[in-house]
Amino acid sequence: MACPDQKGAARFLQGGGTAAHAVLTQLTFQKVDTKYIFVTGGVVSSLGKGIISSSLARLLLSRGYRVTIQKFDPYINIDPGTLNPYEHGECYVTADGHEADLDLGHYERFTDIRTSRANNVTTGRIYQTVIDKERRGDYLGKTVQIIPHITDEIKRNVKLLGKTGNYDFVITEIGGTVGDIESTPFLEAVRQLKWELGRDALFIHLTYVPYLKAAKELKTKPTQHSVKQLQSVGIQPDVLVLRTEKEIPPSMLRKVGQFCNVAPDAVIQSLDQPTIYQVPLGMHAQHLDDIVIRLTGADATPEPDLTRWNMFLHKLANADKVVNIGLVGKYVELQDAYKSINESLMQAATHLDHKVNIVYIHSEKLTEADVAEKLGGMDGVVIAPGFGQRGIEGKFTALRWCRENDVPTFGICLGMQCMVIEFARNVLGLHDANSTEMDTKTPHNVIDLMEEQKSISNMGGTMRLGAYECSLRPGSRVAEAYGTTDIMERHRHRFEFNEDYRERFEQAGMQCVGENPGTGLVEVVEIPGKRWFIGTQYHPEYQSTVLHPNPLFLSFVKAAIDFSDEKQSK
Ligand code: GLN
Repeated sequence: MACPDQKGAARFLQGGGTAAHAVLTQLTFQKVDTKYIFVTGGVVSSLGKGIISSSLARLLLSRGYRVTIQKFDPYINIDPGTLNPYEHGECYVTADGHEADLDLGHYERFTDIRTSRANNVTTGRIYQTVIDKERRGDYLGKTVQIIPHITDEIKRNVKLLGKTGNYDFVITEIGGTVGDIESTPFLEAVRQLKWELGRDALFIHLTYVPYLKAAKELKTKPTQHSVKQLQSVGIQPDVLVLRTEKEIPPSMLRKVGQFCNVAPDAVIQSLDQPTIYQVPLGMHAQHLDDIVIRLTGADATPEPDLTRWNMFLHKLANADKVVNIGLVGKYVELQDAYKSINESLMQAATHLDHKVNIVYIHSEKLTEADVAEKLGGMDGVVIAPGFGQRGIEGKFTALRWCRENDVPTFGICLGMQCMVIEFARNVLGLHDANSTEMDTKTPHNVIDLMEEQKSISNMGGTMRLGAYECSLRPGSRVAEAYGTTDIMERHRHRFEFNEDYRERFEQAGMQCVGENPGTGLVEVVEIPGKRWFIGTQYHPEYQSTVLHPNPLFLSFVKAAIDFSDEKQSK
């Protein structure tokens, strides 16, 4: 069966920094006929361009091609790091420390390909580069304009990964919807690229076919209009993917093709699926990968090997036992805010032949009075990452209850910091212990900025971002979970465990079992006597994929399943 292979996972994790590093440093360009696939969207937003791009990438990879995916976002923020999760969902972090759009998470989860800063470009970054060049005088007194200067910079970025010679296919997702003012320079840039690249460039346009209940009809007019809009900026789509809630009859697909100048077999539907991971199969059944290979003239390859993918789907569909995981956080009304954690829990549970039932518990509303009622039915509890004071007391309440009742508990980033603070307050008796993020004057700053960070903070760049090495204590639960003592995981935080308190924690039973080999910073805490009580300063959820679930999530969900079985056998 598609069981998680621990060594494979360890290799995958250790590869964390290197692939991205290679992309950024390898500027010796080789001649490879890289094919560029552009994915645009029309009619409405949120159609799942990221899922279609990821599915195509999965299929091409499974046929043996070398593939990468990148996302061009038309907003003016330099990166999504500062965007409120309410606005934009989770901020994903790449191995090289880029705060990225959450679609990059989909790319990695579907493909196991490491993305990097080069895989996510925004309008803000394009303009910043052009303006910096202008200030340096690089344009030699010329008037700097959207065309050609902005469009040239977009084109340069589109081709950056392709030029490394590392890829047969570079899939570029253009964020936003055709017709948006913001997308215009991107569409103009890729229109020009089509002229330069000819058959090596291909356009896939994703649209929506609504079903009108009253008329009992599917409507293709919005698709026709959307394609017209694309044609009006000079782009002729080669493939149309129609998102639909109901099966589209073949005659209707043919009609769309005729109206839109698209080959009849290149109009395919993307029917709503019970899980996004089913989408590659639907695309393959309609030959999306074959069409792309044929139209771009890529070297032929055998049919994709989807054995392990199918095994995962089989397990997902057939798991009948449920494991209940409570997720304590402040963005519970917004599932996208914890996207990677949700996916990591689901992947781990699936590999362990269980369905995961994630119960979102609002940390702001959790009190001493209702904690037992809210957490009592949980087989495991995750304390979510986050920033700022809001909801923090609820996290302490949850943690105390979990620790005292010995429920498998996983603290991630802020969740780990809360684990440390709760332990300091209630076990070490340091009642005012806190993180200086929440209380700058706390007498017991068990979580604090490091000295060297304090000086950088004036310049603004204090966040520890991206993949860092971590050495695990031999014999610890966490080392057992990873099957190795040397790992690499990704970070996104400012504050750290305060080394001055380390000995007191260890003497009282909270062990510092993972540390950065270079700096000695504490990365993992664990209470060994408990069923499973581990906090990580890093975010293991950024490195968990369908084929390689993160080992620590596997270990946590396994402990939750064991706990559930134990309760049931009583
Ligand atoms: N706010 C905490 C810090 O900056 C934790 C961040 C997080 O959970 N990602 O250190």
